[in-house]
Amino acid sequence: MSESRQIDAVIVGAGFAGMFMLHRLRSAGLDVQVIEAGDGVGGTWYWNRYPGARCDVESMEYSYQFSEDLQQHWNWTERYAPQPEILAYANHVADRFDLRKNIQFETRVTAAHFNETENRWLVATDKDITLSARFCVMATGCLSSTNLPKFDGLDTFKGEWYHTGLWPHKGVDFTNKRVGIVGTGSSAIQSIPQLAKQAGHLTVFQRTANFSIPAHNRQLEADFVVEVKADYPAFRAANNLEGTCFGSRTEVNDQSVFDASEAELQQHFESKWQIGGFGFLSAFNDLLATREGNEFAAEFVRQKIRKTVKDPVTAELLCPNQVIGCKRICVDIDYFETYNRDNVALVNVKDHPVERVTERGLMINGEEYAFDCLVFATGFDAMTGSLARMDIRGRDGLALKDKWAAGPRTYLGLGSAGFPNLFTISGPQSPSVLTNMICSIEQHVNWVTDCILSMNERGLTTIEADPKAEDAWVDHVNEIAGETLYPSCNSWYLGANVPGKPRVFMPYVGGLPVYAEKCNVVAQNNYAGFVLG
Ligand code: NAP
Repeated sequence: MSESRQIDAVIVGAGFAGMFMLHRLRSAGLDVQVIEAGDGVGGTWYWNRYPGARCDVESMEYSYQFSEDLQQHWNWTERYAPQPEILAYANHVADRFDLRKNIQFETRVTAAHFNETENRWLVATDKDITLSARFCVMATGCLSSTNLPKFDGLDTFKGEWYHTGLWPHKGVDFTNKRVGIVGTGSSAIQSIPQLAKQAGHLTVFQRTANFSIPAHNRQLEADFVVEVKADYPAFRAANNLEGTCFGSRTEVNDQSVFDASEAELQQHFESKWQIGGFGFLSAFNDLLATREGNEFAAEFVRQKIRKTVKDPVTAELLCPNQVIGCKRICVDIDYFETYNRDNVALVNVKDHPVERVTERGLMINGEEYAFDCLVFATGFDAMTGSLARMDIRGRDGLALKDKWAAGPRTYLGLGSAGFPNLFTISGPQSPSVLTNMICSIEQHVNWVTDCILSMNERGLTTIEADPKAEDAWVDHVNEIAGETLYPSCNSWYLGANVPGKPRVFMPYVGGLPVYAEKCNVVAQNNYAGFVLG
C-alpha cells in the first residue's frame, strides 16, 4: 500500500453534499480530497437512473443557493426536474467550480480510523490510495445504500434483474418483455407508469399500499421563472420560513382539521390535491398530530384512488391503511391510472410474501410468476447504511457501527462522541430527509466550514461531541418524534424496512429553521456541547 498522503480534509462522496463541502473548504485554502465510488458526480442522481426518476421537490427550489450567478444561470425546464436534468446540473456545478480536480472517482472508502497520537484520520480505500487527514467529512447521503432483500434463489434467475437504486447507465429496453416489479415506494411509483408503457406485461408485487399525490408536472412557466429570478434570495427565504419550515414552498392552512366543516374539509383537501405534491398535508395544521385527524386526509386520498382505478378489487388493494405521511408521501405522474391498463396486474404479497426466486421468476404462495426481467424497487438501508458499510473507528478503536448498534447517537446529527473531527453531512438526527435536502446540506456544510475555520484561527486541534450533550440531543430527537405520528408505521425513517435494523426514528422532526438556529447558538457559544482540544 502506498504511503498515506497528508491533507487537511477528506470528504467521502461527491453528491450535492460532497461537492459543496469541497467547494467551501477549498475556497478557504484547505487541502481537500474527495473520494467517490461512482465515475461521476451527483450521488443519488448518479445512481438512480430508473425510468421516471425525478425529484419530488420543485425544481426552482431543489438547487444550491450559495451562488447567485449559478442560480441565475441555470434553467430548469419542468416543475419537477427529471433525473437527467438534475445530473446535468450536478455536472455543470462540478465544471463551473472546477471541482473534479480534487475528486478521486471510482474509488470506495473502506475504512477510516482515528489515530489518537497524531489526531488524524487514516482513510483506506479499495484502490492503492490512503489518506491521512485532520478532518473527515462523511457526505455519503441518506439514501445511498440499496436494500435488496435476501431472496433465496436470486442467483438462479435466468432473466435480468435490476435494483432501482443501481440502475445500469446504458438504460434497459423492456419492449415486449414480461416484467415483475417488487415494491410500491417512491421509486416504484415513479417507474411503474414508465415500465408499463414499454413492457409487454408488468406485474406489481405490493406489500404495503402507499399514499401518492399527483405531481401535476408541467413545463415551467416563463413568467414564474422570471419572477423567482428577480429576487431568488427572497424566494429561498420564504420557502425556508413558510409553512412546515422544511425549506420548501408549502402554504399551511392554519386551521385544525377538527374545526373544519364537511364542506371546508373537501375544499381544502381538493385545493391541495389540485396543486399537487407534498403540500397536501398542509391542508390543515394538525394532520400529523392525531390519528383521528389524519384519517380525514387518508380517506380523501382513498376516495381519489377508488374514483381513478376502474377495477374495484385492484382499487381497494391500492388503498393504504396506515397513517398518511408517516412514510414519505409519494408524488406521482399517472400512477393509479396505470392500473387501468390491460398489461398491468397487481399482486398482494402482504399475506403471502415472496417465497423465493426461481429460474423463471418469483414463487409466491405456491404459484410461480414467470418473467424476463425483475425490478427490485425495495429501497435503501437509509441514513446509517452507508456509514455502517465502512469500518469507521474512533477513540480506543471503537467502531461506529458498534456504538450505533441500538440506533444512531449523535449531537445535532453533526458528530458523535468518541469520533473527533468526524462530521456527518445530513447525518441521522438532523432534519435531512424531512426537508428539501439541498437546503439542509448547505446549512450543514456552512456550519462545518465555519467550525473548521474557527478551530484553525484559534489553533485548536480537535472537536468532538460531549457525551452528555449527545445523550440530551438523542432524547430530544426521540421525544419530539414521539409527539407526532411519524413513528407509527414501518418506514425507512425508523429503519423498519431492513430486517434486524434497530427501530429508532432517525431524522429530526423539528424543522430546518428551528434546527439551524440551534446550530447557530451552539457555534456562537464556543461550540457548546462539543469538547474542543
Ligand atoms: P421505499 O420507500 O423504502 O420502498 C420500498 C418498497 O419495497 C416498499 O414498498 C416496500 O414494502 C417494498 N419491499 C421491501 N422489501 C420487500 C420485500 N421483501 N417484499 C416485498 N416488498 C418489499 O424505497 P424507495 O421507493 O426507493 O424510496 C425511498 C426514498 O427515496 C423515498 O421515500 C424518497 O425519500 C426517496 N426517493 C425520492 C424520490 C424523489 O425525489 N422523487 C424518488 C425515489 C425515492 P413495505 O412498505 O411493506 O416495506
